[in-house]
Amino acid sequence: MSASKAKRRISIAAKFNLLTMVIVLLTSGGISFILIRNVISYRYHNLLSHGLTIAGMASQTSEYCIYTGDTESMTQIIEGLEVDKDIAYVCLLNKEKRQLMWKSFKSGFQVPPAPAMGFTDSSLPGNIFYEEFINKEDGNRYINVLAPVVIFAANNSPDGLLNNTKGTNPEIIGYVQLGLSLENLQKRIHQFLISTLAFTIFFIIVGVVLTLFLTKRITSPIKNLSLVTKKISEGILEQQIDIYTNDEISDLAGTINHMLGRLRVYRDQLRHAAFHDPLTNLPNRNLFVERLERLIEHGKRNTNCAFSVLFLDLDRFKIVNDSLGHLIGDKLLVLIAQKLRECLRKSDTVARFGGDEFAILLDNVDDDFNAKFVAERILETLKEPFFLDGHRIVVSASIGIVLKGEFYNCPEDILRDADTTMYRAKRLGKARYTIFNTELHAHVMKFLRLEADLRHAIERSELVIYYQPIVSLASDDIVCLEALIRWQHPQRGLTLPDEFIPLAEETGMIDKIGHWVIQNACIQNKVWHDMGFSNITITINVSALQFRHKELPEQVGTIIKNSGLPGDAFELEITESTVMESKELVIEIFKELNKMNVHIVMDDFGTGFSSINNLKQLPFSKLKIDRSLILDITTNPNASSIVKSIIDMSHTLKIKVTAEGVETREQLDMLRLYRCDYVQGYLLYSPMKAEEITELLTQTSKHISDIKSNGLREHIL
Ligand code: C2E
Ligand code: MG
Ligand code: MG
Repeated sequence: MSASKAKRRISIAAKFNLLTMVIVLLTSGGISFILIRNVISYRYHNLLSHGLTIAGMASQTSEYCIYTGDTESMTQIIEGLEVDKDIAYVCLLNKEKRQLMWKSFKSGFQVPPAPAMGFTDSSLPGNIFYEEFINKEDGNRYINVLAPVVIFAANNSPDGLLNNTKGTNPEIIGYVQLGLSLENLQKRIHQFLISTLAFTIFFIIVGVVLTLFLTKRITSPIKNLSLVTKKISEGILEQQIDIYTNDEISDLAGTINHMLGRLRVYRDQLRHAAFHDPLTNLPNRNLFVERLERLIEHGKRNTNCAFSVLFLDLDRFKIVNDSLGHLIGDKLLVLIAQKLRECLRKSDTVARFGGDEFAILLDNVDDDFNAKFVAERILETLKEPFFLDGHRIVVSASIGIVLKGEFYNCPEDILRDADTTMYRAKRLGKARYTIFNTELHAHVMKFLRLEADLRHAIERSELVIYYQPIVSLASDDIVCLEALIRWQHPQRGLTLPDEFIPLAEETGMIDKIGHWVIQNACIQNKVWHDMGFSNITITINVSALQFRHKELPEQVGTIIKNSGLPGDAFELEITESTVMESKELVIEIFKELNKMNVHIVMDDFGTGFSSINNLKQLPFSKLKIDRSLILDITTNPNASSIVKSIIDMSHTLKIKVTAEGVETREQLDMLRLYRCDYVQGYLLYSPMKAEEITELLTQTSKHISDIKSNGLREHIL
């Protein structure tokens, strides 16, 4: 609404005051007007009729003296009228209107001349004339009355008059002139007006008192209510209206009080929801950032202000979610939140940022010793397994620590660096903490760039599969090829899987990449089979994350079917940790894959749990002893006896054994001695491109057939 159109604001109190004043003024004014009007007219006419009567009577009593010119009687008549306070003067006139005798009852008052109006003889007796005038000398108003003195003489004989005999012919023989003073009347009217004014003022005072009373009883509570509602609209809910009366306004005040109570509850709930994570009830990112911001600001003013930020991410939490379901995942997060809270002081803040990310704000801690201490305590606490719905779940976390530094101006920068540091901890092998430094920042930035590049690697055909031959010690033939992925990065050159597979796992790209490897390795093996190397099996590394998808057997089945390869020309390698993370699901997937005749190999045995139980429970067809055990097999008797035991044990379980990382002839000899089934290593072959493998297979088969035709059997080495 435009300002010009806006209605002028008039408060209810002002309206009340105005209305009361108008009513009071109109009532008292009206009453006064009517009263004054009536009283004035009544008094005036009273006075006039009184004056006329007196004049009439005087004219009758003065007949004789005027007729006879008896001055004594005239004086008596005039003085007899002096008692009347309303008569200002009396004058007796002859018929020519000449003054015979006069008297003014007011000192110095000059009797005005008689009115010029004429009375004819035919005038009716008692016909009296009067007119009002203002005496210039005293400024008062008077009524000049003129009454004719009439005689009715039968024959105009004064004797008749003297004898008191009345004739029938009227004749004016003189006049009585008297002046009626309106001064007394005016005084009385004046007094009346004053009392009316007093009466009006009294009414106005009563009106004002009434208005004040009404204002106090009605408008001030309304004003109070309006103030309260205005504050509510401004978001001020910490208020209460005092109720003193029991009427409609107090009912309204009670309702507003109730509404205020409800609003406070909703506001608190909203505030809590806005600043807390609904699952764990921990503070959320908003609240964490707010507290951190406050500490940063405080730190700018106070150099003693100390704090550290820990960014915590659970390792492989996705696996728990994928394999055990989101419900258990959620329950686990709640338990972890509880444990984190127990690890910290009350003054510290632990917040959930979403997913499996937590942030911790350590108040009064800015030295790496104490921050490390807290991180270690958290990692130690998380090592204890969680038991949920019959599942034993072991979790670990990676923590990035940022200590308070003067160069931080906003929470986002601290959190960015804490996040970066946490990723570094993940890269370093998870279940650990790292402390931020600038070198680390540069490293992680590089890593982030790598992640962005990897997203397009498949579309840009930058991924390549190398194949490393695995040789049977019984026949010395290449019986298997391990598919090992490489990334031909445009700037970095040939990049090894250790540099990008963990990244692909973290970012969820592993599913796409894993599928691409299985598909392409299968197609390639089909090519080799078609070339006549049908004894070749392809073994493909599968990430634990891929093994968490129930759809994996179906995907593999489709690829095998499409490639036209037999199922046993295809093996999948998984590490022991994959099995440990979700045994039930792995068993299920194993069953499905076995139905398709796809074998499963346990990779890197000897690095983790090395559990015989796992080997016993799961139908592994092969086991690969990790390179780290083979490395010192010839120098370390413990290593050699462990390797021997693994081989023997596997054979007992009818599992074939491959030794990885064979680099020396001594290692090979020893493995042969221990009756290892297969060997893989640089001593035999390094990973090669598919074309090189084709050439190798062609040459080796020719070489072997030559040897066989010579009746000799020679090792290919
Ligand atoms: P892995 O499955 O244990 O593969 C064997 C690794 O040992 C390969 O490294 C291979 O080049 C290396 N190696 C073989 N013989 C020797 C030797 O005599 N000495 C030494 N020092 N190393 C040897 P690579 O190709 O760098 O692969 C590393 C790991 O990356 C693999 O370990 C595997 O876990 C993973 N990986 C490779 N390709 C894939 C893939 O397509 N998918 C997944 N999920 N992981 C893959
Ligand atoms: Mg492998
Ligand atoms: Mg391995």
